[in-house]
Amino acid sequence: MKRSSFIACHECDLIHQVGHVPEKSTARCSRCDGLLYHHKPDSIDRTLALTVAGLVLFIVANAYPFLGFKISAQIRETTLITGVKELYLQGMWILATVVLLTTIVVPALQLTGLLYVVAPLRMNRLPWKLKTVFRFIQHLQPWGMMEVFMLGILVSYVKLAKMATIIPGIALFAFMALIFILAASMAALDPHDVWERIQPQTSPYHTVARRTNLIGCHTCHLMCRVPSSEVHGSTCPRCETPLHRRKPNSIARTWALVLAAFVFYIPANVLPITIVTSLGHKQADTIMSGVIYFISTGMWPIALVIFVASILVPMLKLLVLSYLSFSVQRKSKWRPVDRTRLYRIAELVGRWSMVDVYVVTILVALVHLGALATIEAGPAAIYFCGVVIITMFAATSFDPRLIWDQMEDKNESTNH
Ligand SMILES: [Zn+2]
Ligand SMILES: [Zn+2]
Repeated sequence: MKRSSFIACHECDLIHQVGHVPEKSTARCSRCDGLLYHHKPDSIDRTLALTVAGLVLFIVANAYPFLGFKISAQIRETTLITGVKELYLQGMWILATVVLLTTIVVPALQLTGLLYVVAPLRMNRLPWKLKTVFRFIQHLQPWGMMEVFMLGILVSYVKLAKMATIIPGIALFAFMALIFILAASMAALDPHDVWERIQPQTSPYHTVARRTNLIGCHTCHLMCRVPSSEVHGSTCPRCETPLHRRKPNSIARTWALVLAAFVFYIPANVLPITIVTSLGHKQADTIMSGVIYFISTGMWPIALVIFVASILVPMLKLLVLSYLSFSVQRKSKWRPVDRTRLYRIAELVGRWSMVDVYVVTILVALVHLGALATIEAGPAAIYFCGVVIITMFAATSFDPRLIWDQMEDKNESTNH
């Protein structure tokens, strides 16, 4: 950070005056330990270089053969998009859309968006609609799931290894490299630096944002002064995101989504997720019977991955969100730092639950050899995908600052 600046903590709303932060160091919230600012040296240059490399890898990953599947004399070659096409042909267009978005469209948008933002900034120019594009990239981030897809490939590989030979294609290696390059370019990017180039911020105050007329913008961290009566309908002057003191109807929305996810969780576990046809013999598998199969064949690590990602994580995430919403409604003052940490973890691990959806996609793409061996997606795949997506929305609709509002009210009453 070039000069002292004011940042409202994303997670508890406490305003900090952040002075000089040395290169590669971070500034953290003094109250909840949330990340305030991370000083990344040469951010624009490094992001640009990594983004260009990422675009090349993206093209290779999509243009060349991804995985080959060889059983007796038959060979089936697939590209990254084959699974999406197969799902669509089987009438699972919702699932096909989700897989297409999370593994191909979102990474493509992230890379092109980054290039669009960073390349002109490198030449000290502001591109057209920069604010909108940059805001969009920041909101896209949780929806790119290439690394989860990679884990899905690994699981599928183990699952099919006994049945046939899997031949990795050149696109697979490009895809693996792309995961690291895209993660590195997002990590190299310093959003604060970009927003400061668009418009430097000025504004003093050192207290909790809610008690002054200040609102910390959720996208660009600008401290905006808005009188209480005018909050509704106002937007951030720098990045044009709608401003709210707290996420609107946070608790009600979180509850609605959590309950919907609980409902979907039942068919997701009871109905079959894959239907295997092999030499005229049909076999339907649920998530749990898949886990049991791996245990019975001695593949403990894979059984554990599927069990944790598909059964344990979604359930724990829903329980954590229920507990947090309940504790806010009860105006609990119990261990706010730990509750904030719990929220952070729940938000972070949820995406890995998508792994089973990807395993189904890959199996469906590869094992498509007519009467010899064919795998179809079962109805549970859609419900399960629903559970993961709805839970991700539930986590974003919960506002962790509500946990801290209770602590504020306590301080106010003791100060009087
Ligand atoms: Zn904080
Ligand atoms: Zn803003």
